[in-house]
Parts: sequence; structure tokens; C-alpha cells
Amino acid sequence: MPEHTSSIVNDSLDALYDDGSFLPDLKDGTRKKAFTSLVSILSTPNSVNKSFLRIALENGKVVRIPAFRVQHNNILGPYKGGIRFHESVSEDEVTNLASLMTLKNALHQVPFGGGKGGVVINPREYEDKDLHLICKKYVQYFSEIIGPDKDIPAPDVGTGDREMDWMMGEYKSIRPGSNYRGSFTGKSVINGGSLGRREATGKGVYFTFRYMLHDFVNGQQKWLEERENIFAKTALDHSDKDLTMAIQGFGNVGSVTALEAHKCNYLNNKIVAVSDRNVTLYNSDGLDIPALVKATSNHNGDLPVNEDELAAADIKAKVMDRDDVLSLNVDVLVLAALEDQVHKDNVGDVKARIIVEGANSPVTGKADKILSDQGVIIIPDILANAGGVIVSYFEWLQGRETQFYTEEQVITKQFDKMKETFDTVLPQFFGGPHPLRQNCYIHAVSKLSTVLYRQGKLY
Ligand code: NAD
Repeated sequence: MPEHTSSIVNDSLDALYDDGSFLPDLKDGTRKKAFTSLVSILSTPNSVNKSFLRIALENGKVVRIPAFRVQHNNILGPYKGGIRFHESVSEDEVTNLASLMTLKNALHQVPFGGGKGGVVINPREYEDKDLHLICKKYVQYFSEIIGPDKDIPAPDVGTGDREMDWMMGEYKSIRPGSNYRGSFTGKSVINGGSLGRREATGKGVYFTFRYMLHDFVNGQQKWLEERENIFAKTALDHSDKDLTMAIQGFGNVGSVTALEAHKCNYLNNKIVAVSDRNVTLYNSDGLDIPALVKATSNHNGDLPVNEDELAAADIKAKVMDRDDVLSLNVDVLVLAALEDQVHKDNVGDVKARIIVEGANSPVTGKADKILSDQGVIIIPDILANAGGVIVSYFEWLQGRETQFYTEEQVITKQFDKMKETFDTVLPQFFGGPHPLRQNCYIHAVSKLSTVLYRQGKLY
């Protein structure tokens, strides 16, 4: 587990240790030992699996591509987590993401454990046939450890329904007669995917923010008054004032979050900036988000990068440097690209008073501490971006039952599930001393610890 996550897990365990209602059957020495056992269990993955996929490329060369599947913890159910195709994938990164999945599933009461996969490639540099072979080989190399009741992968950065369809197809060939539909989630709908899965993460990210600001925060006047110099004005005045927003990342998560914010009737959102791997686009009067979504889908997933491309798409915006999105003078910054985007060297430039983590780990530990000490509200990844895994769970269930829900049913079930979590952690946050991230961790670690204890794993 990376330093930041593990220090919050340790702090959460300390907080639980001081809470007499937690594991009350255990007395002094035994209780201490149980907590020591918890630290070692939660701070290490159950297994780290690495292979070098041998791929005969279309150009005639044979290459060996590093690939990972990390299985962090399965006390709550089969391992679950995406497969990332990106050139920066490493064992540490995949392990960090796998441990976050364990905590995320525990927090939202999803009956899965935490896993994650990765392949060290830039998928844009490969032919479709090469990618197809990479997907098949990934399944072949890890076929012993994945499966509908063992470890269920899903898409992540650089992968989507096409890759999941290919992988499930290969799994079905290797394991004929198995319950192959449940082996991968995030598949296309025609291939057993769930309606609403593609949009689930972005919709959930926006719903988390909206629920906190609109549905919940107005009942917290006292808390807000005590913090009038920071967040209170933004939150309280939102009914008659624009809430300016910048969004880093305009892929699956960022673009859907942007669309949800754009069409929201509850808050006066004005999205003044969006960014991707190439540029930041800015318009102080608010960007035309539906037009940008259309332009990116016509442009291989990338935002327009210059005046000509903007004019061709009839979009008014100023083109800025990619990282300018982080330092704009906005109320809300949504981080929906990659990890470690706000770090100790640029945290001083961040002006937003609310940060929403659509991506996993986009704020480093040091930056998180600095921002939290300044009173910036950070809505953490494990709370905000769980929509994807929640709907993946529904997809897995639908595949088992071969009964499929309507899109409306999926969205309602997703939001109901997320609301249950919000109604647990938000009152603790508004009523207590910890940052929201730590409240979420305490809740997740408490659930994991109780189950570990009751299954006899702590002694
Ligand atoms: P994606 O590949 O669809 O989109 C990534 C976006 O980030 C693209 O617009 C890309 O251009 C942009 N980007 C890449 N590098 C950047 C940089 N340095 N600066 C600014 N933008 C940059 O990926 P996604 O599925 O939208 O995932 C985004 C994040 O959300 C990841 O951290 C992922 O782990 C997390 N996440 C995704 C899901 C899901 O269901 N897709 C679920 C939970 C968490």
C-alpha cells in the first residue's frame, strides 16, 4: 500500500482503536494484537502477478510486454478492478489502485474485494489487431487467477467495452461451459454489458458532488458558519450565484461528469474550463459541453487543440496549456485524468475550494494534507468514483441471472446505493474532526476489520 493510503489506514485504525464500541469483545492485549494484525493484512496485497506477454505484432516484430494483475484483498468477495493500458503502468501503481478498490468496495457495501490490472503500453501506438492479441494473451497468461468467482476485471484508462468483449470471448474459449458472462464487466450491452455502465462513474461523480452541496449541505448551517471564510459562501450562495467549475480529463469520467454538471437543474454550475492530455480550453462565460463531447468523439477522443479545430466545431474557447486547468480561479476543480496531478510543487497554485476526485489518487498525500489544513473540501476518490464498480456489480448480477435491468432501474439502484454511503459518512464529516477522506477510510476499514475478525483472520 502506498505511503499516503497506508498512513490514512493507520490513522483510521487508531481512531477505531479509541472507539470502545468497535470489536468490544476484545480486551486490552488481544485487542492490540488484532489491530496489529489488521495493519499487516491491509497494508500488503494478497498477491502480485506479473507476466511478459509475448506478442507477434502486425509489423512482424515479436515483443514482450509487461502485464500485471494485483489481488489486494478478497475478504468481502471476489477481487474486482479495472485493467489499465498506459505506458506509465507499474507494479506500485497497480498495487495502489488494487488497495483502493478493496476500500471502495467496503465503503459502498459492494460484495467484492480489491484487484487491479495493467499493461505497459500506449494503446494509441498499436494496430487494432495487436490490441486484440494483447487482450487475448492477457487472459491466457492470467487465466488461472481470474474468473467470475475469483477475480473480475473491468475497463480503466486505455480500455473500454471493446477490450472487455475481446477478453470475455477469450475466457469463454479457455473455460467452455463456465459462467463466462460474469468473468468481465464493462462489456458492450449486446455482449451482456449493463445499460448505464459506460456513464456510471461520471454520473456518480457528479451525483456525489450535487448530493453533498445541494441535498445535504444546506442542513449544515452551523458547520458552514464556523467556516465562513472558505467554503461556506460558495455552498450557501449557490442558489443565486454561478458555481464555477474546471474539469481535468475529458475521457469517459470527465466528459460524463461535465455533461451532468452542465444539465443540472439543482445548482448553477458554469463549466469554464476542461482539459485533456493536450490542452486546457477556457471560456469565462461557460463552455458548450455537448458541442465539446461531439467534437471529441469526432476527433479520436481528444479535445480540439487550436483555433481552427474550435471554429470547425463552432466552439468558443481560449486554448491554454494542459496543466493551466489546475490553477484557475474557480470554485470547484474536478480531477478526472490520472493519479498524482496535484502534488507538493503545484498545490500552492490551486485556488478551488472544493476538489472532486473522479480519478483515483489524483492528489498526493502531501498535497492532500496542505489542502485539508487550508479547509479545502476534498471529495475523495473512493466516495465519488464508485459508480463504475457499483454498476459493474449489477452487470455481474444480471449476467448470472440472465435478467437485464432498464437503464432507469440501473441509475436508480446506483444512486440509492451511493446515497446509503453518503448518509453514513457525510454526517460524520460535518459533525466530526476528520477530513472526508478519513471518514470514508474509517468506515471502510471498520467494515473490513469486522469481517476479518469474524472470519477468524486476526488471530
Ligand atoms: P479515459 O482514458 O477515458 O480518459 C482519460 C482522460 O484524461 C482523457 O481525456 C485524457 O486525454 C486525459 N489525460 C491524460 N493525461 C492527462 C494529463 N496529464 N492532463 C490532463 N488530462 C490528461 O479514462 P477514464 O476511464 O475517464 O478514467 C479517468 C480516471 O478515472 C482514471 O484515474 C481511472 O482510474 C478513474 N476511474 C475510471 C473509472 C471508469 O469507470 N472509467 C472508474 C473509476 C475510476
